Amino acid sequence: MKRLLVRRLSKLADAIPRERNNPPLPRMPPFDHKPLPYEGPTAAEILKKRAEFLSPSMFCFYKKPLNIVEGKMQYLFDEDGRRYLDAFAGIATICCGHCHPKVVKAITSQTKCLQHSTIVYLNHAITDFAEALASKMPGDLKVVFFTNSGTEANELAIMMARLYTGCHDIISVRNAYHGNAAGTMGATAQNNWKFNLMQSGVHHAVNPDPYRGLFGSDGEKYARDVQEIINFGTSGQIAGFISEAIQGVGGIIELAPGYLPAVYKTIKKAGGLCIADEVQSGFARLGSHFWGFEAHGVVPDIVTMAKGIGNGIPLGAVVTTPEIAQVLTRRSYFNTFGGNPVCTAGGLAVLRVLEEEKLQENAYIVGSYMKDRIRTLQEKHNIIGDVRGRGLMLGVELVTDHQQKIPAKTEILHVMDHMKEMGVLVGKGGFHGNVFRITPPLCFTKEDADFFVDVMDIALSKL
Ligand code: PMP
Repeated sequence: MKRLLVRRLSKLADAIPRERNNPPLPRMPPFDHKPLPYEGPTAAEILKKRAEFLSPSMFCFYKKPLNIVEGKMQYLFDEDGRRYLDAFAGIATICCGHCHPKVVKAITSQTKCLQHSTIVYLNHAITDFAEALASKMPGDLKVVFFTNSGTEANELAIMMARLYTGCHDIISVRNAYHGNAAGTMGATAQNNWKFNLMQSGVHHAVNPDPYRGLFGSDGEKYARDVQEIINFGTSGQIAGFISEAIQGVGGIIELAPGYLPAVYKTIKKAGGLCIADEVQSGFARLGSHFWGFEAHGVVPDIVTMAKGIGNGIPLGAVVTTPEIAQVLTRRSYFNTFGGNPVCTAGGLAVLRVLEEEKLQENAYIVGSYMKDRIRTLQEKHNIIGDVRGRGLMLGVELVTDHQQKIPAKTEILHVMDHMKEMGVLVGKGGFHGNVFRITPPLCFTKEDADFFVDVMDIALSKL
């Protein structure tokens, strides 16, 4: 009853003409979907239980956290049936749209038929998806190991590099994020806000960050640090190098051009394997390419993926060459649920939808359009220090001083809250927490992009 009243009142508020000197608020593009009536607990009730029964490390966005109860394509609905444009897509986990009917159908049909572990019996769901995934890979990358998350995929990739080379040393890039288990945390953290778990044999290279880095956009200069680590920090032979193509959690940082080709050469000379973490940048999100590493013109030895691969279901994968894959036959290796029929049936449906609906092309067109529009906001709002990214993986860094690049940590929270009030959900990240992360579902339209930018414009004006 109370909820019905709230919904009526908010409709009424929409109908009231705005005061003359206040421009009308931008209108969300129309969308033909009526959320189901919600009869579950309220946000306040959930918060109370969460505080009592869940980890105190869990956090929420917004002064008044949202209770999201339904999703449909690029939109989310709260407990009162209010619609929001989702420009964060569960940190890029949703690639073809929330509850995409074809993905839901594939998952539910398989659930009704069989859900099982992948060990000891045959089932076609895992082989069908592995074959389809391999077809998206360059070179000899065609052997797939399935996991349940990005963390597991990176742990496995690092282990394979160590087994294959017989070396222990791994080089990762500062400000990267590769997962939340001990090994991947070690490869993730250094002077970072993540747990600083020291892992023996993990070295952190200078971040080739064109905005804040020492050498600007000169990728080859940053790459020299990797050579120095090998020369002075290891025996001269290493197990491998791991990096994202665009750092996601780190604040949508595009690695300086020329960095990856130079580093890959150095790593190969030192006998190491190159691991591309495509957990965020893979699966068509960048528009120009299906995989982020392709935009750098390199071919890795091992590729890891998760998030978008399953459009929201727990699924990850490691893809490598038949020769490297052999190392796991030296002992028994299995993953109870990695590649289970339900998740792989969903994954195959995701790949098909990406192709049928030309979502890579859409990410390119809509992403480029939105980036251009955000760049025009930069001329108007001095607080925008940098606009970056590709396709539908964009970042907007807020600073209070352009020269010193002082992070606008508090301001970004106000802007986020105002945007939410106007119906737009956006992510936030980066080492200082002052970067908007824009990673919507790939079905985002130009009209959505316009609405997003108009709302951001108003929210920034309110600062
Ligand atoms: N790699 C990257 C680039 C990521 O962004 C993440 C998650 N944010 C991970 C790995 C870890 O994935 P998961 O949370 O599924 O373990």
